[in-house]
Amino acid sequence: MKYPEAIENLIQSFSRLPGVGEKTAARQALNIMKWDKEYIYEFSNSLKQITDLKFCRECGLFSDHDICEICSSEKRKTEKTMCVVESITDLMAIERSNQFSGVYHILGGVLNPLIGIGPDKLRIDILKERVIKNNVQTMIMAINPSVEGDATCSYIRQELNDQEVSIERIGFGMPMGGSLEYLDPLTISKALENRKSI
Ligand SMILES: [Zn+2]
Repeated sequence: MKYPEAIENLIQSFSRLPGVGEKTAARQALNIMKWDKEYIYEFSNSLKQITDLKFCRECGLFSDHDICEICSSEKRKTEKTMCVVESITDLMAIERSNQFSGVYHILGGVLNPLIGIGPDKLRIDILKERVIKNNVQTMIMAINPSVEGDATCSYIRQELNDQEVSIERIGFGMPMGGSLEYLDPLTISKALENRKSI
């Protein structure tokens, strides 16, 4: 017994989500079928709308314009401090802590040769350009602690060796393999306070 094609397609879409297997995907798809039609339309509209979202040319955050609100803020730029993160969710977590007033740079991941993520797949070239263009004095590497994260920090350190920028890594209170997005604002602000040069 196979599901009708429409349901099968929905199951396939759900299975693309990380951590969702075929069974969970099927359960969710069948759950949605019980929704009122208007909720289903709303859901599909939200999905459609994200395809129109733009990303900031500078930091990589989603934005309605070419340059996001944070990157275009004079106040934030004059800090001459840049916080480098892996993902948008990590940026949001740091913003929630209210402890950082400079600009950000989203790498889009960390180096991981095993799954084919080399420097060309991350936004490292733009990072270098921005450090020079904005005369960044301090760069805070808010990269999650992991073997790949460490390697990424070392790589960026090397890439910026010829620049006069002090590079610091956050760490305090961050468990190995932990992720910023799951930390509470207090732990994040502690991690931002206690950083060391790399
Ligand atoms: Zn931006």
